[in-house]
Amino acid sequence: MPTLTHWIGGERLEGERHLDVTNPASAEVIGRVPMADAATVERAIDAARAVQPTWRDTPPARRAQVMFRFKMLLERDADEICALISREHGKVLEDAMGELKRGIENVEYACGVPELLKGEYSHNAGPGIDTWSNHQPLGIVAGITPFNFPAMVPLWMFPMAIACGNAFILKPSEQAPSTSLKMAELLGEAGLPVGLFQVIHGDREAVEALIDAPEVKALSFVGSTPVAKAIYRRGADNGKRVQALGGAKNHAVVRPDADLDNAASTLIGAAYGSAGERCMAISVAVCVGDATADALVASIGEQARTLKIGPGTEKGLDMGALVNAAHRDKVAGYIEQGAAAGAELVVDGRRHPLVEASPGYFLGATLFDRVTPEVSIYRDEIFGPVLCVVRVETFEDAIALVNAHQYGNGTCVFTRDGEAARRFADAIEVGMVGINVPLPVPVAFHSFGGWKESLFGDLHAYGPDAVRFYTRRKAISQRWPARNAQEKAQLNFPSS
Ligand code: NAD
Repeated sequence: MPTLTHWIGGERLEGERHLDVTNPASAEVIGRVPMADAATVERAIDAARAVQPTWRDTPPARRAQVMFRFKMLLERDADEICALISREHGKVLEDAMGELKRGIENVEYACGVPELLKGEYSHNAGPGIDTWSNHQPLGIVAGITPFNFPAMVPLWMFPMAIACGNAFILKPSEQAPSTSLKMAELLGEAGLPVGLFQVIHGDREAVEALIDAPEVKALSFVGSTPVAKAIYRRGADNGKRVQALGGAKNHAVVRPDADLDNAASTLIGAAYGSAGERCMAISVAVCVGDATADALVASIGEQARTLKIGPGTEKGLDMGALVNAAHRDKVAGYIEQGAAAGAELVVDGRRHPLVEASPGYFLGATLFDRVTPEVSIYRDEIFGPVLCVVRVETFEDAIALVNAHQYGNGTCVFTRDGEAARRFADAIEVGMVGINVPLPVPVAFHSFGGWKESLFGDLHAYGPDAVRFYTRRKAISQRWPARNAQEKAQLNFPSS
């Protein structure tokens, strides 16, 4: 059984304390991952400190060249990376390829860093004074990432952080740790100097050591809301820049004027893709009117029963296993609670044959109808293949329902009415909005982030916000007085 290592100063480093890594499709232990202590974190910081000043002074165009090569290497080894993702996470290979491609978009965006760092310039901002502002790297920055996107979420962070001139320390999820090591190897092959990208595996101990280290200037976190909040607070106490993206409960509002066939088939993908283990998964369909709900539930119910489920590494499947036994049991527990609370269980994923027949952590697609806002399956993030249908009378009721929820990550409206779509986009209190687009994950040149309990911090992830997050602005004013100019002392506040 392979023992994974940290990646520090360009070398593999073993650890003393370990956790098992499991294949969710078979429940087999497939590796052991070391858990870093504070001394290991310190080692990574030392290695980063030794190289970052030289990297900071390397022209952005040369830094970008590394990202061009890294992109090509990710594409070259895409199949291998997707196999690693699927083996540890459980998602199907095609879905892993989708995540990797979306991740690579962020590397492409980072290739444009010379343009993004150009800054602003004013000639003659005052008499004989030129002023410009530029972006300077922060130094050493860190990222803490969740299990559900082992490639994409780290790629939201480190390509831009490094391209901006920082050194980056990644603490990936201990449940899906191998992809980050593969990316570290590829960055080395792409010519990134040793120490600029490092991987430390671990749990709370490692994360707290990163937050408390004065040399780490900024933290990007993606994961569950309670951890996001705790990291945001502790980071802020330490005077750090923090962006902490949390959990979600994403609603799709389905109006009576929508193309219901299209809404049903795209909702199947948005609710059950990746077994619902996506922060942008749709987990609530709010149907305006009973006729809309009846038609949608009939169509989704029929399709949900026929989804092909199995080990993610097999081709042609729709859904793989959930990440681990505890999580599968938690999701099954929510199904139990929903049924006990009186919601109508239209399709029960616990009855899927693989749940009994396989040692893996499988659960079929589940559909609830007539869910009410006070029950736990509506309030909480379940993070599994469970879709709840809530019936409301009017479109305004639907908007009010979405706005009252604690989370505000993504949402979507299905409609053919432009006026309604515009009203939705304006009134909805959610960070990412789709109009007939159920997974409105912005492309890499826009930023990603939710509102309310889905994000703590000011700046969103990737896109233009990433340049702002991983740099600090400096405004420089310069004047070259004429030789021998007889200038009088000026005591008033200078103005133009
Ligand atoms: P998680 O919060 O359990 O773990 C995320 C990271 O934090 C991991 O690296 C983990 O090791 C670390 N961690 C866990 N507990 C910690 C603690 N007490 N102190 C310090 N660090 C700790 O999340 P997860 O289960 O890996 O991922 C699923 C969650 O992530 C869901 O809530 C999902 O919505 C969310 N998510 C959000 C986004 C987004 O963009 N908003 C994207 C993907 C996932």
